[in-house]
Amino acid sequence: MSAISANDQCAPLLVFGAHPDDIEFGCGAVIAAETQAGRAAHFVVCSLGEAGTHGSAEQRRDEACRAAALLGATIEFVELDGDSHLEVRAVHAIKLAGIIRRLRASTVLATTPTENQHSDHARLGQLVRDAARIARYGGLKELIDLPAHSIERLLFYAVTPDGEPRDLAPILIDISASEVSRAWVAAMQAHGSQAATRSYVDLQLTRARLLGARAGIEYAMALYPNEPLVFESLAAAGRGARNF
Ligand SMILES: [Zn+2]
Repeated sequence: MSAISANDQCAPLLVFGAHPDDIEFGCGAVIAAETQAGRAAHFVVCSLGEAGTHGSAEQRRDEACRAAALLGATIEFVELDGDSHLEVRAVHAIKLAGIIRRLRASTVLATTPTENQHSDHARLGQLVRDAARIARYGGLKELIDLPAHSIERLLFYAVTPDGEPRDLAPILIDISASEVSRAWVAAMQAHGSQAATRSYVDLQLTRARLLGARAGIEYAMALYPNEPLVFESLAAAGRGARNF
């Protein structure tokens, strides 16, 4: 089943990442599936990855722009505290809430707030959760020029296995279509500076294959809803992933 209902196909999918490659590695295949189905997607990258061992800020920005284009998404970069310095501060949540209001997004994706992964990932997850809440508050003086906006759903993605919440069952998105996996792999490979020493693409494909096997399909990607999802009927709820 899709994470997006028929009612909000026109609203862009809004995806936040802490570093230039988070979105592609953490949920790139879901983005490819959605844009190939005709939905708009917009990426907000909250640092240039300048603290990484490999790749300059300029190189990593270029890689992220190329990867976003391969996934059919637009992209912008937002300066918060810089790579590896992100802190949970109200001023950041308000800034991100302004982006949610500007885009009028219905579905928002962000890194999981799970501890014991890159601290920027966990903190960005907290900030986006706060931003989604305060985007609704009409009296917020910093954002008075933008009409208040309620999103329909906030879904988290885990960039690495460390970021997977231990206490939440994910929803699984079928990403088995060959054109989806092709676009996803190409977008990950666009981050050439990060492929120098580790097999990140292999790791993500293995994660997706394992989830797919669990669900009886070829490849799947996990998303973690911030709150219970409401379905209009049981039939709209998809099937259970049990395959053994
Ligand atoms: Zn990252």
